[in-house]
Order: sequence, then structure tokens, then C-alpha cells
Amino acid sequence: MALSISHLGYNKLSQAIFEWQAADRTSLLASFMVMEVSLHWLWCLFVWWRRDVYDTYVDIGLLYPLWFGVTLVALFLLWMTTHFSPIKKNNRNLYKWQGILITVYSVYIAIVILVLGHSSLVAGVSLVGGAMLGMMLIRRRYVWRAFLGHVAIILAVTFIPYFGVTLPNLRQMTLTVVPLDTYSYINYSEMTMIENAISASIFKNGTLHWDSVNQLRRSSAFFWRSTHIYMALPKAIFIIYMFRILLLILDDSKKEILQHANQDELTQLKSRRYGLTQMKQVLKSVEDHQDISIILLDLDWFKDVNDSYGHEVGDRVLVEVAQTLLQSLTDETIVSRYGGEEFLIVLPDTTHDTAMIIAEQLRRVIAKHVITVDDSIIFSVTASLGLYTLTHDERTCIKQACETLNKKEAAQSLAKPQRIRSYSSKHGSRQTPTAQLPHDICQRLICMADKALYEAKDCGRDQVVSANEMLAENNTIAALYGT
Ligand code: GH3
Ligand code: MG
Ligand code: MG
Repeated sequence: MALSISHLGYNKLSQAIFEWQAADRTSLLASFMVMEVSLHWLWCLFVWWRRDVYDTYVDIGLLYPLWFGVTLVALFLLWMTTHFSPIKKNNRNLYKWQGILITVYSVYIAIVILVLGHSSLVAGVSLVGGAMLGMMLIRRRYVWRAFLGHVAIILAVTFIPYFGVTLPNLRQMTLTVVPLDTYSYINYSEMTMIENAISASIFKNGTLHWDSVNQLRRSSAFFWRSTHIYMALPKAIFIIYMFRILLLILDDSKKEILQHANQDELTQLKSRRYGLTQMKQVLKSVEDHQDISIILLDLDWFKDVNDSYGHEVGDRVLVEVAQTLLQSLTDETIVSRYGGEEFLIVLPDTTHDTAMIIAEQLRRVIAKHVITVDDSIIFSVTASLGLYTLTHDERTCIKQACETLNKKEAAQSLAKPQRIRSYSSKHGSRQTPTAQLPHDICQRLICMADKALYEAKDCGRDQVVSANEMLAENNTIAALYGT
């Protein structure tokens, strides 16, 4: 995979999710928390450093205990990042500390949101993003509980002021341009009023002056808005980024799962299941005038190859035969590993004569192919092939036979007692059955090819036998459709 910005961290995160132990994942989460708390710590430092400018907007008296608290939490989280590795094997202990970690973090974030003046931006990002990240890395049950606790705290913080309780708030505002005193807590409409007053004072006569810009820069509203963005935006970007990587990981795992299901691991050919699915699709999409041929190919005396040269050499032979098949056949042909040393080849839009030529060519190429092991063992294998071609005429006959049978069944069901009929009349009239091949047509065709394959084995192996030639046409339809 080419390394791109969007894939930065992809390998590490996919390793963390799929391969790391729970303790290491918890340490990683604690490290992310340290990063976030460090940002808060830096903010406190900045405000303290510029306190001569910002002391009108920030309650410096509250800043000191908050800063102290942030420092303590940062130290605790730092300790947590190293604490989990030693308790890797003790699951109960690990889960206990995961619970403590997420509780401390949730309470901490709730306090930060509260003292920032109930920031909806930080609250939203923390609520959704924190939970998402937590669920990726630690026990989901704990994260879910912490999430619910968070929601409860947010609701409580929203409604408590209406009961006359003043909550601690860093945000204080002393504005000279509007007649407002210091507020320890303001609600949304009050804040909007203040911001409107500030705008009105800045945009005098609709023009913005440098003086006004400076004033804006120093204004409480601007300062607090920047603070909220500073607190929320890096976290939001980080979480969206992680989420995107998680989706990439999911996409890749889906591809990998499909590949495992659809591809044979040893030969890289299509798996039996996928080969049959594709065969079904070919049978559905085949045009009325087209014939379909299938070949079952089985290596001769393969057990002896394993017994003489070992299983590993046997595997090599299978891989080389698979490569030979792929090289000899067109892209439209469906080649799958049907069983141990048995291959199913589906030739769409191929007549019997052409299929016979192809099968004979395959037999010859395999017999000619020399297998060399360590320059000393040199041998070749042969294959027996059973072929069957479903001609378009036969297909039409089978469809007609099927249709007749369906009609018969429909007539029989109509003749059944009233109770059953009233059900079908309630649920709309029965549809006229469309002419279709039987649902197990693939198995029936393979069964025909298998008969031919056994004939080839019986007749001495290393040869192609056609099931069409073995049976008269009428018998073929009877054998296929069981009529
Ligand atoms: P015949 O000509 O009648 O087909 O004889 P045979 O020995 O090829 O047939 P049989 O079915 O008796 O043996 C098939 C052998 O294929 C048995 C099994 O050990 C071997 N086989 C199946 N799958 C694998 C595989 O993935 N790797 C290897 N090395 N051998 C396999
Ligand atoms: Mg065999
Ligand atoms: Mg076999």
C-alpha cells in the first residue's frame, strides 16, 4: 500500500486494534488523553503568562486550582500510560484500571466543560469523539457507561443554574462598552447580547478600524470563542482522522475476508464456493443461442506423488498445474479448485467441439509440463478430464420441462382445499411461473461431468471423456432433470 497522508498511522492503528493486547491498547488511550490534557495545561500557562491582558475575561482566582487539577490529572494519566504493561495478564486488574481511567477522564472533561462556561462545542466533540475513540481501544461496556454519565452531567449542568445554584466558571466579563458587570455564569442569550454589543461598538458606521480590530482581538467573546475552538478543534480533527483510518481498516478487512472466502489459498485459483457462484451467474446471464461447457479435471495417481516426493512437492504440483491452467485458458473462463486435486473449469459460450479441443489441449499441456524439485527430482503428472456441454437446445428443453412441472404444481395447489386458496387470493394472484433452470442446475451439470471423469479414469486415465457422447440426447435431459 502506497504511503499517503490519509494512510499515516494506518498500520499502527490497525495493529493496535487487531493485534495489540488489551493492556497496550489502554496505554495508547491513556497517551491520547495525556495529549489532550497537555493542551489544556498549555492553555492555562498561556492565560497565566498573559494575565495582564486576560484577567478581565478569566477568573484568575479559579484558574490556579484548575491548573493544579489539570497538572494532577496529566501526571496521573502519564503514570497510567506505563501502568498497564505490567498487568497484561491479570484481566480483572486490567478492567478495574480501565474503569478508573475512563471515570477520571470523564469527570475531568465534565469539569473542563463546566468551567469553560458549559461549552457546547467541547461537550459535543468530547461526548461523541471520546466515546468513539474509547470504544476502539478499551472495554466498550465501560465507555458506554461513561458516555451515559457524561450525558447526565451535561443535563445537570444545563439545568442546575435554573435552581439558583451558581456553578464555578472561568469566564468572567467586564466590558466598558456595554453596561455589564462581571458575570460568573452567563447563558446563551446573554452571551449573544454581549457579542452583539461588541460588534456594534466595533463596526461603527459599518466600517472596521484597526483600533476596533485590536479591541476585537482582546474582546472577551473573541478570546472565549478561540478558547473553545482550541479545546475542541484538534480533538475533532484527530477523532475524524482516527475514524477515517478505522473505516479504511474495515474496508481492507472486508476485502481480505472476501479474498479468503473467494480464493484458494494454495493455488490462488477461485475457491470452490466462488467458482460455483460464478458458474450460477454465467448460467443466468447466458444468451439464448449460447452453449456452456464445463470440465472436471482430476490429477492421476496424485496420492502416489505425495507418497513418493512428500506433501510439499504435492503442493508445488498443484500450484504449477493451477498456473498452467490459467495460462492456457482465457480470462472469461472460470477456473476454480473444486477439491484436493480436482479443478472445475467453466467455459461460457463454448460449443461441445470447441470445449473438446480445449480439454484435449489442457490434458497435453499438463502431461508435458515438467516438475523439477531441487534440480534432482524431475517428473510430470497426467490428468483425466470429464466434459459436459449444455447446449442451448438442451437448456430450452430443460426450461420447458421445468415450466411444465411448475404449472402442474400450480394447478395442484389450486385444487387444494379452500383454506389454502383463500390465503393465496388474499395475498394477490399467483404469478405465472417464468421459464427458469432448476435451482440445483450447477450440481446436476457437475454430476454429468463427474460421470465422464470416472469413465476417463476407468478407461486408463490421461484422457478426455465427454458426457454428451456417453449418453444419448434424450437420456442426457432425463439424467439432468430427473424426468
Ligand atoms: P486417481 O487417479 O484415481 O485420481 O488417484 P489419486 O491418487 O489422484 O486419487 P485420490 O483421491 O485417491 O487421492 C487424492 C490425493 O490428493 C489424496 C490427498 O492426499 C491428496 N491431496 C488432496 N489435497 C491435497 C493438497 O492440498 N496438497 C497435497 N499435497 N495433496 C493433496
Ligand atoms: Mg486424482
Ligand atoms: Mg480426486
